[in-house]
Amino acid sequence: MDILLLGSPGAGKGTQGAILAERLGLPKFATGDLLRDAVKRGTPVGLKARAVMEAGQLVSDDIILGVVREELAKPEARNGVIFDGVVRTVPQAEGVTSLLKELGRQIDRVLFFDVPDREILTRIEKRRGIEGRADDDPAAVATRLKAYREQTAPVLDWYRARAGVELIPAVGRIDQIAAKVQALLGR
Ligand code: AMP
Repeated sequence: MDILLLGSPGAGKGTQGAILAERLGLPKFATGDLLRDAVKRGTPVGLKARAVMEAGQLVSDDIILGVVREELAKPEARNGVIFDGVVRTVPQAEGVTSLLKELGRQIDRVLFFDVPDREILTRIEKRRGIEGRADDDPAAVATRLKAYREQTAPVLDWYRARAGVELIPAVGRIDQIAAKVQALLGR
């Protein structure tokens, strides 16, 4: 089963995705985590992505789709994947659809974590104190939220027109939100 998680930065995709991955026994795949790792290791992808990420902008679709192709080729991805923040533009949605199609697969469920902007800002501020991410500073956060509104929000409509999108009101305790996800998926 392939499950796509959508939502703005700080919506809780990573946290809920990890819980879901553990419960379903599927790998969670987050382009943000893979890119941060590539930057740390100084790989060619990391060198290209670094400045763009620090500014809070989106990395190019080509780079993202290259990373997705590599991840889907891994044996542990053969039974399905939880895609966390992997699709942030309409061309990426199209590209991921084609890559899965080559494997005879498709995105089976699309979950949208819905959190009001005010709450998002509070969460990112809190995370900045804990994780110290360069792109959690206020200027980069403003750019990331703008990128979300302009480039990622249209992805919701793209999936609504095709697969259907399930909305999860994602405010409250982590376990309460996880329970909503479980109820929605029935597992
Ligand atoms: P995240 O950890 O999900 O907040 O991602 C951190 C940063 O990685 C983002 O601000 C982007 O610069 C980059 N990134 C991660 N996933 C994508 C994607 N699917 N498309 C474009 N850029 C991405």
